Amino acid sequence: MDRIEEKICQIIDSKKDEIMAFGRDIFCHAELGYKEHRTSQKFVEEMEKLGLTCETGLAITGVKSYLKPKGSQEGPTLAVIGEMDALPIPNHPDAWSETGASHCCGHNAQLTGVVGAAIALCDPEVAQAMGGNLCFMAVPAEEFVDIEFKSQMMKDGKLGYGGGKCELIRLGAFDDIQIALGHHTFPGADYGIYNSSSNGFVNKTVTFQGRSSHAADAPHEGIDALNAATSAMVNIALQQESFRDEDTVRVHGFISGGGTAVNVIADHVTMQYSVRGKTPEAYLDAAKKVDRSLKAAAMATGCGVTIETMAGYMSGVVNPDTQVLESVLQDLDAMGPYHHRRDMLTHATGSDDFGDVATLMPLVHFCTGGYVGNLHNPDVRVEDEYLAYVVTAKIFALTAYRLMKNGAEKAKENIEHYKAPMTKEEYLAFMDGMQRTETVDPEPLPIVGKE
Ligand SMILES: [Zn+2]
Repeated sequence: MDRIEEKICQIIDSKKDEIMAFGRDIFCHAELGYKEHRTSQKFVEEMEKLGLTCETGLAITGVKSYLKPKGSQEGPTLAVIGEMDALPIPNHPDAWSETGASHCCGHNAQLTGVVGAAIALCDPEVAQAMGGNLCFMAVPAEEFVDIEFKSQMMKDGKLGYGGGKCELIRLGAFDDIQIALGHHTFPGADYGIYNSSSNGFVNKTVTFQGRSSHAADAPHEGIDALNAATSAMVNIALQQESFRDEDTVRVHGFISGGGTAVNVIADHVTMQYSVRGKTPEAYLDAAKKVDRSLKAAAMATGCGVTIETMAGYMSGVVNPDTQVLESVLQDLDAMGPYHHRRDMLTHATGSDDFGDVATLMPLVHFCTGGYVGNLHNPDVRVEDEYLAYVVTAKIFALTAYRLMKNGAEKAKENIEHYKAPMTKEEYLAFMDGMQRTETVDPEPLPIVGKE
């Protein structure tokens, strides 16, 4: 480590209590995507304490804060990105009573890491030693949940995409960024490089329209939307053998509403489905099979069906240049007591809108532990706050510094060598091409015995 890098570590360690307190505060005040108003405000306060100004309200709650005045520097701008949102898991002991949300995916550690890194990187001597510019970003809505809310916002013209980074790309918030640095939490006691591929997906909001009737006296006069939903689930499950193993297709969903009373035939059932796969070709094929399954269920039961398709996230694209991050983790290994875990590079069958960022620019992505329990589960706890928050801040800061020192030499190399799969225009056209609503009208037969 050079002298500046040692200084970065010293600054972060000297502020470790503040950093951990910030992480704990965000953990206990979890908010859902595009509703992270308190979280966003807390981030702004931290940036302003460092003397930085903020652009706020980007994709509703997103924030950008530049290390040096925007546009004042030659060379690339590196985004140091932390997500703000949480999950609707109200039975977590630290779920916030106001929102019913909890940080069971550990995004609070990402945001805390960015705040901790900013404290060190804003030191005048440290800032001076870097070329280009840094943009500390708090981004909304990584979890693809609370779909009814997002769908309504889209219908009202207040939102284009369900994913926060996708929306930021659409709105131009990434137009002045050339390279990105991101993080994710994982359960365990180590850290690792997380430049792995992941599944892309589309989301389906499904509504079956039936006809109610007395469930005991005259069920034959009704059209049971729950029967259509049951049939759809079976049809979808039976598609399984049509998927290739290497495409890692995942189709999973739930009934989000259906039925009102045991003695009333349900006239209305809503479902949510995610259709994921390793490549757009794979998940768009699976999505067609899901549509087919839904329509077949509607036809078999006489129900109508509306299928609202929302673009999800791109399949994660791998930036092969992990040299700088590797060197940072090696140095941390030497300091102990944590270790570089090298098994985090397998394909992830989940999805992440960091994949959308990586579609346009190189992404350097790492993970840190400090949590126990299974992500997206109410048993998630922060067991080691120093690792979860402070080490995360150090990796963010040291990696950003090493990419940007010597006139941003390493960042420039990475940008030059990276083969982005799409331009922004191609990306937006691809995303928009997936978003549609399709309706099949009900085709009820005349009721036997009735005029
Ligand atoms: Zn997550």
